[in-house]
Amino acid sequence: MDIAADLDRPRLDRGPPLAAVGPPAPRRSAGASPPAKLVARNVSKVYTLKRNDKLLALDHVSFSVRKNEIVSLLGPSGCGKSTLLRIVAGLDQASEGEVLLDGNPILRPTRSCGMVFQTYTSFPWLTVRKNVEYGLKINGVPRKERRERAEEFIERVQLTRVKDAYPTQLSGGMKQRVAIARMLANEPEIALMDEPFGALDAETRRSMQELLNEVIAKTEMTVVLVTHDIIEALFLSDRIVFMSRHPGRVREIIPLDFKQGRKISTHEQLFALPEYAAYESHIFALMREVTA
Ligand code: ADP
Ligand code: MG
Repeated sequence: MDIAADLDRPRLDRGPPLAAVGPPAPRRSAGASPPAKLVARNVSKVYTLKRNDKLLALDHVSFSVRKNEIVSLLGPSGCGKSTLLRIVAGLDQASEGEVLLDGNPILRPTRSCGMVFQTYTSFPWLTVRKNVEYGLKINGVPRKERRERAEEFIERVQLTRVKDAYPTQLSGGMKQRVAIARMLANEPEIALMDEPFGALDAETRRSMQELLNEVIAKTEMTVVLVTHDIIEALFLSDRIVFMSRHPGRVREIIPLDFKQGRKISTHEQLFALPEYAAYESHIFALMREVTA
Protein backbone atom coordinates (compact mmCIF):
# COMPACT_ATOMS: atom_id res chain seq x y z
CA MET A 1 0.00 0.00 0.00
CA ASP A 2 1.29 3.43 -0.90
CA ILE A 3 1.38 5.20 2.45
CA ALA A 4 2.05 8.64 0.95
CA ALA A 5 -0.96 8.33 -1.35
CA ASP A 6 -3.05 7.16 1.57
CA LEU A 7 -2.04 10.20 3.61
CA ASP A 8 -3.05 12.45 0.72
CA ARG A 9 -6.53 11.07 0.58
CA PRO A 10 -9.27 13.22 2.11
CA ARG A 11 -9.47 12.14 5.75
CA LEU A 12 -13.10 12.94 6.41
CA ASP A 13 -14.09 9.27 6.23
CA ARG A 14 -11.84 8.38 9.18
CA GLY A 15 -12.22 9.38 12.79
CA PRO A 16 -15.16 8.79 15.09
CA PRO A 17 -18.75 8.60 13.87
CA LEU A 18 -20.37 11.99 13.44
CA ALA A 19 -23.99 11.01 13.99
CA ALA A 20 -24.32 13.08 17.14
CA VAL A 21 -23.14 16.16 15.29
CA GLY A 22 -26.04 16.08 12.85
CA PRO A 23 -26.18 15.64 9.11
CA PRO A 24 -23.97 17.77 6.84
CA ALA A 25 -25.60 20.96 5.61
CA PRO A 26 -26.94 20.58 2.09
CA ARG A 27 -24.35 21.57 -0.47
CA ARG A 28 -25.29 24.46 -2.68
CA SER A 29 -24.59 24.04 -6.36
CA ALA A 30 -21.99 26.39 -7.81
CA GLY A 31 -23.39 29.80 -8.71
CA ALA A 32 -26.61 29.25 -6.75
CA SER A 33 -25.37 30.60 -3.41
CA PRO A 34 -27.59 33.37 -2.06
CA PRO A 35 -26.24 36.91 -1.72
CA ALA A 36 -24.44 37.63 1.55
CA LYS A 37 -26.58 38.84 4.44
CA LEU A 38 -23.91 41.23 5.64
CA VAL A 39 -21.01 42.71 3.70
CA ALA A 40 -18.17 44.90 4.96
CA ARG A 41 -16.34 46.40 2.02
CA ASN A 42 -12.99 48.18 2.34
CA VAL A 43 -13.77 49.49 5.80
CA SER A 44 -11.13 51.83 7.21
CA LYS A 45 -11.27 53.71 10.49
CA VAL A 46 -9.03 56.57 11.52
CA TYR A 47 -9.17 57.82 15.11
CA THR A 48 -7.98 61.33 15.83
CA LEU A 49 -5.91 61.37 18.99
CA LYS A 50 -4.51 64.20 21.09
CA ARG A 51 -2.50 66.88 19.25
CA ASN A 52 -4.30 65.78 16.07
CA ASP A 53 -2.29 62.55 15.78
CA LYS A 54 -4.07 59.94 13.65
CA LEU A 55 -4.41 56.26 14.40
CA LEU A 56 -5.36 53.88 11.60
CA ALA A 57 -7.43 51.33 13.54
CA LEU A 58 -8.83 49.54 10.46
CA ASP A 59 -7.22 49.44 7.03
CA HIS A 60 -9.48 48.38 4.14
CA VAL A 61 -11.15 45.47 5.91
CA SER A 62 -13.56 43.37 3.86
CA PHE A 63 -15.57 40.29 4.76
CA SER A 64 -19.05 38.90 4.27
CA VAL A 65 -21.47 36.80 6.28
CA ARG A 66 -24.15 34.56 4.79
CA LYS A 67 -27.51 33.99 6.38
CA ASN A 68 -27.33 31.61 9.35
CA GLU A 69 -23.54 31.71 9.33
CA ILE A 70 -21.39 32.41 12.37
CA VAL A 71 -18.36 34.44 11.39
CA SER A 72 -15.74 35.23 14.02
CA LEU A 73 -13.50 38.25 14.02
CA LEU A 74 -10.40 36.78 15.65
CA GLY A 75 -7.10 38.46 16.40
CA PRO A 76 -4.89 39.89 19.13
CA SER A 77 -5.92 42.72 21.39
CA GLY A 78 -5.84 46.06 19.56
CA CYS A 79 -6.40 44.70 16.02
CA GLY A 80 -9.67 46.61 15.71
CA LYS A 81 -12.26 43.88 16.37
CA SER A 82 -14.45 46.02 18.63
CA THR A 83 -14.10 49.02 16.34
CA LEU A 84 -15.23 46.89 13.39
CA LEU A 85 -18.18 45.41 15.30
CA ARG A 86 -19.31 48.88 16.41
CA ILE A 87 -19.28 49.99 12.78
CA VAL A 88 -21.26 46.88 11.76
CA ALA A 89 -23.73 47.69 14.56
CA GLY A 90 -24.18 51.25 13.24
CA LEU A 91 -22.85 52.65 16.53
CA ASP A 92 -19.83 54.20 14.85
CA GLN A 93 -19.08 55.31 11.28
CA ALA A 94 -16.32 54.05 9.01
CA SER A 95 -13.87 56.68 7.76
CA GLU A 96 -13.93 54.91 4.41
CA GLY A 97 -15.78 51.95 2.92
CA GLU A 98 -19.22 50.62 3.79
CA VAL A 99 -21.19 47.94 5.58
CA LEU A 100 -24.32 46.57 3.92
CA LEU A 101 -27.13 44.57 5.51
CA ASP A 102 -29.29 42.89 2.85
CA GLY A 103 -27.71 45.30 0.37
CA ASN A 104 -28.53 48.47 2.32
CA PRO A 105 -25.90 50.61 4.08
CA ILE A 106 -25.92 50.41 7.88
CA LEU A 107 -25.85 53.98 9.14
CA ARG A 108 -27.40 53.60 12.58
CA PRO A 109 -28.40 50.78 14.94
CA THR A 110 -31.38 48.79 13.67
CA ARG A 111 -33.86 46.58 15.48
CA SER A 112 -32.88 43.60 13.38
CA CYS A 113 -29.51 43.52 15.20
CA GLY A 114 -29.20 42.11 18.70
CA MET A 115 -26.03 42.92 20.60
CA VAL A 116 -24.00 41.60 23.49
CA PHE A 117 -20.99 43.70 24.40
CA GLN A 118 -18.03 43.29 26.72
CA THR A 119 -19.34 45.81 29.16
CA TYR A 120 -22.65 44.74 30.50
CA THR A 121 -25.67 46.81 29.55
CA SER A 122 -28.98 46.03 31.22
CA PHE A 123 -31.61 48.11 32.96
CA PRO A 124 -30.73 48.27 36.67
CA TRP A 125 -34.34 49.06 37.61
CA LEU A 126 -35.67 45.86 36.03
CA THR A 127 -35.34 42.33 37.40
CA VAL A 128 -33.50 39.65 35.44
CA ARG A 129 -36.80 38.35 34.05
CA LYS A 130 -38.04 41.82 33.06
CA ASN A 131 -34.69 42.55 31.42
CA VAL A 132 -34.97 39.40 29.31
CA GLU A 133 -38.62 40.18 28.51
CA TYR A 134 -37.92 43.78 27.58
CA GLY A 135 -37.05 43.31 23.89
CA LEU A 136 -39.98 40.92 23.43
CA LYS A 137 -42.30 43.53 24.91
CA ILE A 138 -40.95 46.20 22.55
CA ASN A 139 -41.58 43.80 19.67
CA GLY A 140 -45.19 43.31 20.73
CA VAL A 141 -44.95 39.70 21.92
CA PRO A 142 -48.03 38.99 24.11
CA ARG A 143 -47.44 38.87 27.86
CA LYS A 144 -47.91 35.13 28.40
CA GLU A 145 -45.67 34.16 25.49
CA ARG A 146 -42.92 36.59 26.44
CA ARG A 147 -42.92 35.35 30.01
CA GLU A 148 -42.61 31.74 28.87
CA ARG A 149 -39.89 32.60 26.40
CA ALA A 150 -37.95 34.65 28.94
CA GLU A 151 -38.19 31.86 31.53
CA GLU A 152 -37.01 29.30 29.00
CA PHE A 153 -33.86 31.27 28.20
CA ILE A 154 -33.24 32.21 31.83
CA GLU A 155 -33.32 28.49 32.59
CA ARG A 156 -30.94 27.76 29.71
CA VAL A 157 -28.36 30.27 30.97
CA GLN A 158 -28.81 28.81 34.47
CA LEU A 159 -30.22 31.91 36.16
CA THR A 160 -33.62 30.61 37.28
CA ARG A 161 -32.57 30.93 40.92
CA VAL A 162 -32.02 34.70 40.53
CA LYS A 163 -34.72 35.58 38.01
CA ASP A 164 -36.37 38.05 40.40
CA ALA A 165 -33.08 39.70 41.43
CA TYR A 166 -31.86 43.04 40.09
CA PRO A 167 -28.64 43.28 38.05
CA THR A 168 -26.73 45.05 40.86
CA GLN A 169 -27.22 41.93 42.99
CA LEU A 170 -25.47 39.69 40.44
CA SER A 171 -21.85 38.79 39.68
CA GLY A 172 -20.24 39.93 36.42
CA GLY A 173 -20.63 36.48 34.88
CA MET A 174 -24.31 36.35 35.79
CA LYS A 175 -24.90 39.80 34.29
CA GLN A 176 -23.24 38.61 31.12
CA ARG A 177 -25.58 35.64 31.01
CA VAL A 178 -28.59 37.96 31.37
CA ALA A 179 -27.37 39.81 28.27
CA ILE A 180 -26.95 36.51 26.39
CA ALA A 181 -30.43 35.30 27.42
CA ARG A 182 -31.97 38.60 26.41
CA MET A 183 -30.35 38.52 23.00
CA LEU A 184 -31.22 34.88 22.29
CA ALA A 185 -34.83 35.20 23.52
CA ASN A 186 -35.29 38.05 21.04
CA GLU A 187 -34.01 35.94 18.15
CA PRO A 188 -32.71 38.90 16.13
CA GLU A 189 -31.88 38.49 12.44
CA ILE A 190 -28.28 39.40 13.20
CA ALA A 191 -26.50 38.86 16.50
CA LEU A 192 -23.40 40.97 17.11
CA MET A 193 -21.38 39.72 20.05
CA ASP A 194 -18.18 41.25 21.41
CA GLU A 195 -16.33 38.77 23.63
CA PRO A 196 -19.68 37.72 25.13
CA PHE A 197 -18.21 34.93 27.24
CA GLY A 198 -15.17 36.82 28.51
CA ALA A 199 -16.44 37.29 32.06
CA LEU A 200 -17.42 33.63 32.54
CA ASP A 201 -15.50 30.84 34.25
CA ALA A 202 -14.23 28.12 31.90
CA GLU A 203 -17.01 25.60 32.52
CA THR A 204 -19.84 28.13 32.17
CA ARG A 205 -18.17 29.53 29.06
CA ARG A 206 -18.18 26.11 27.43
CA SER A 207 -21.82 25.55 28.24
CA MET A 208 -22.81 29.01 26.90
CA GLN A 209 -20.87 28.34 23.68
CA GLU A 210 -22.75 25.06 23.30
CA LEU A 211 -26.05 26.82 23.95
CA LEU A 212 -25.25 29.41 21.28
CA ASN A 213 -24.50 26.72 18.71
CA GLU A 214 -27.69 24.88 19.60
CA VAL A 215 -29.84 28.02 19.22
CA ILE A 216 -28.18 29.03 15.95
CA ALA A 217 -28.68 25.54 14.54
CA LYS A 218 -32.42 25.81 15.25
CA THR A 219 -32.98 29.36 14.00
CA GLU A 220 -32.02 31.48 11.00
CA MET A 221 -29.95 33.85 13.10
CA THR A 222 -26.75 35.19 11.56
CA VAL A 223 -23.88 35.94 13.94
CA VAL A 224 -20.76 38.09 13.97
CA LEU A 225 -18.70 37.15 17.00
CA VAL A 226 -15.64 39.02 18.23
CA THR A 227 -13.16 36.91 20.14
CA HIS A 228 -9.46 36.54 20.89
CA ASP A 229 -10.01 32.91 21.95
CA ILE A 230 -8.87 30.52 19.22
CA ILE A 231 -10.78 27.47 20.45
CA GLU A 232 -13.95 29.49 20.88
CA ALA A 233 -13.63 30.69 17.28
CA LEU A 234 -13.04 27.13 16.06
CA PHE A 235 -16.01 25.77 18.01
CA LEU A 236 -18.53 28.40 16.98
CA SER A 237 -17.59 29.66 13.52
CA ASP A 238 -18.33 28.67 9.98
CA ARG A 239 -15.59 31.08 8.95
CA ILE A 240 -12.88 32.96 10.79
CA VAL A 241 -11.74 36.43 9.76
CA PHE A 242 -8.26 36.50 11.24
CA MET A 243 -6.94 40.03 11.83
CA SER A 244 -3.50 41.53 12.43
CA ARG A 245 -2.80 44.83 14.16
CA HIS A 246 -1.08 48.19 13.69
CA PRO A 247 -3.00 48.78 11.51
CA GLY A 248 -5.97 46.42 11.80
CA ARG A 249 -6.11 44.33 8.64
CA VAL A 250 -7.52 41.03 7.49
CA ARG A 251 -4.60 38.62 7.63
CA GLU A 252 -6.54 35.59 6.40
CA ILE A 253 -10.13 34.42 5.99
CA ILE A 254 -10.38 30.79 7.04
CA PRO A 255 -13.46 28.75 6.06
CA LEU A 256 -13.75 25.88 8.55
CA ASP A 257 -14.51 23.29 5.91
CA PHE A 258 -13.64 20.42 8.24
CA LYS A 259 -16.96 21.02 10.01
CA GLN A 260 -18.87 20.51 6.73
CA GLY A 261 -21.33 23.28 7.56
CA ARG A 262 -22.49 21.70 10.83
CA LYS A 263 -23.01 23.49 14.12
CA ILE A 264 -21.10 21.30 16.55
CA SER A 265 -22.91 20.28 19.74
CA THR A 266 -20.06 19.72 22.18
CA HIS A 267 -16.38 20.50 22.45
CA GLU A 268 -15.50 16.79 22.55
CA GLN A 269 -17.11 16.38 19.12
CA LEU A 270 -15.10 19.31 17.78
CA PHE A 271 -11.79 17.92 19.07
CA ALA A 272 -12.57 14.49 17.60
CA LEU A 273 -13.09 15.79 14.07
CA PRO A 274 -10.40 14.79 11.60
CA GLU A 275 -8.34 17.83 10.58
CA TYR A 276 -9.33 19.77 13.70
CA ALA A 277 -5.76 19.72 14.99
CA ALA A 278 -4.38 21.03 11.70
CA TYR A 279 -6.71 24.02 11.79
CA GLU A 280 -5.91 24.71 15.43
CA SER A 281 -2.15 24.61 14.78
CA HIS A 282 -2.50 26.88 11.78
CA ILE A 283 -4.39 29.49 13.77
CA PHE A 284 -2.05 29.29 16.77
CA ALA A 285 0.84 29.90 14.33
CA LEU A 286 -0.97 32.91 12.84
CA MET A 287 -1.55 34.32 16.33
CA ARG A 288 2.14 33.89 17.16
CA GLU A 289 3.08 35.62 13.93
CA VAL A 290 0.85 38.66 14.44
CA THR A 291 1.84 39.15 18.08
CA ALA A 292 5.59 38.72 17.49
P1 ADP B 1 -9.71 45.10 19.79
O1 ADP B 1 -11.18 45.07 20.10
O2 ADP B 1 -9.30 44.19 18.70
O3 ADP B 1 -8.87 44.90 21.01
P2 ADP B 1 -10.15 47.96 19.34
O4 ADP B 1 -11.10 48.07 18.23
O5 ADP B 1 -10.66 48.16 20.73
O6 ADP B 1 -9.35 46.56 19.23
O7 ADP B 1 -8.97 49.01 19.12
C1 ADP B 1 -8.21 49.09 17.91
C2 ADP B 1 -7.23 50.25 18.03
O8 ADP B 1 -7.96 51.48 18.05
C3 ADP B 1 -6.42 50.22 19.32
O9 ADP B 1 -5.14 50.72 19.02
C4 ADP B 1 -7.18 51.17 20.22
O10 ADP B 1 -6.31 51.77 21.17
C5 ADP B 1 -7.72 52.20 19.25
N1 ADP B 1 -8.99 52.79 19.66
C6 ADP B 1 -10.14 52.13 19.93
N2 ADP B 1 -11.13 52.99 20.24
C7 ADP B 1 -10.60 54.23 20.17
C8 ADP B 1 -11.12 55.56 20.37
N3 ADP B 1 -12.39 55.76 20.70
N4 ADP B 1 -10.28 56.60 20.22
C9 ADP B 1 -8.98 56.39 19.87
N5 ADP B 1 -8.44 55.19 19.65
C10 ADP B 1 -9.22 54.11 19.79
MG1 MG C 1 -12.23 44.59 21.85
